[in-house]
Amino acid sequence: MTLRIGVIGVGMIGQDHIRRLTEVLSGGRVVAVSDVDHDRARKIASALPGCTSHVTGEELIADPNVDAVVVTTWGPTHEEFVLAAIEAGKPVFCEKPLATTREACERIMSAESGAGQRLVQVGFMRRFDASYRALKDAVDSGRIGAALMMHCAHRMPEAAPNYTSEMAITDCLIHEIDLVRWLFNDEIAAVRVLKPRGNSNTQEGVDDPLFVLIELGSGILVDVEVSANIRYGYDIRGEVVGESGTVALADNTDVVLKQGAHYSGRVPSDWRERFIRAYDIEFQEWIDNLAANKPPAGPTSWDGYAATAVADAAIEAMRTGNRKTVMLATKPDFYQD
Ligand code: NAP
Repeated sequence: MTLRIGVIGVGMIGQDHIRRLTEVLSGGRVVAVSDVDHDRARKIASALPGCTSHVTGEELIADPNVDAVVVTTWGPTHEEFVLAAIEAGKPVFCEKPLATTREACERIMSAESGAGQRLVQVGFMRRFDASYRALKDAVDSGRIGAALMMHCAHRMPEAAPNYTSEMAITDCLIHEIDLVRWLFNDEIAAVRVLKPRGNSNTQEGVDDPLFVLIELGSGILVDVEVSANIRYGYDIRGEVVGESGTVALADNTDVVLKQGAHYSGRVPSDWRERFIRAYDIEFQEWIDNLAANKPPAGPTSWDGYAATAVADAAIEAMRTGNRKTVMLATKPDFYQD
């Protein structure tokens, strides 16, 4: 059976997901698209065999030819489309964030649990990256003893002109927030955001880099450097320190060149290059699960809620300079593993 997929929002990542669904993966086909820019949606649809363009996302969700929905619009619009998909009883893959406020995430959780079936998957793709999966396997195996600390770096060569200090949290740190919750199977209890000496490559008024300290419920401490203008490449680093060993992401390079008394390897130029396979695996597993009539097995609405709640706390911690406790609602039984 081919899963018939409708994509709402055909901007940068929407088009990239359409490419992978159409050219790379198996078992799914994009049959409908929509966008506030109707001409853009029509143009994308005309290049895909058997694809219709709809004027609104709601119309696309109601289309009987659409089995499952992908939401890749601007964050503040995610709630309305995810709620409409749940109401229609259709599985929905929503790019991060699930929604931009914790109240909106709560409304989604309540609608989904009311529907009585897991329909939502949130686009935190690092959980599908082979090197992060190997890191988690090593931690879970107990070979380094209990995990005590983790050092992370989220380094980008050049921020977009509209980059703000808040985007360091909502667009960058949000991935480490989800990652450490998944890696250590724990919730985040508190967060602190420190501002080192500023990078002179960064536009006036933007705090860059940031140095974030995350406290997990178990007492594990995680530091995350977020650098948005470090020029040399897109470099994602992570090292877990355990009681009797450490485990770290290896440098993401295919070959090491030794020449002229030096050795060197490639640093990815951007997030697409670094995580291209993770996105592919994320979608292939989503399609395979739905085709097998299983619920989505990736990040849930609860994960989307927790990430938004921690991001809110981090933004306040950044503004005030103080340690901010994260207050989460009680996890509903519906989302217990
Ligand atoms: P983008 O290029 O601006 O694309 C968003 C698209 O949605 C645009 O075509 C936009 O139209 C359209 N849109 C906005 N409101 C809409 C509405 N009410 N109905 C239908 N279409 C609407 O943004 P993007 O970079 O692709 O990001 C999209 C989402 O993906 C964001 O939530 C972002 O955080 C997420 N994302 C996730 C990752 C990841 O690593 N997981 C990476 C990148 C992006 P206009 O251009 O006319 O506004």
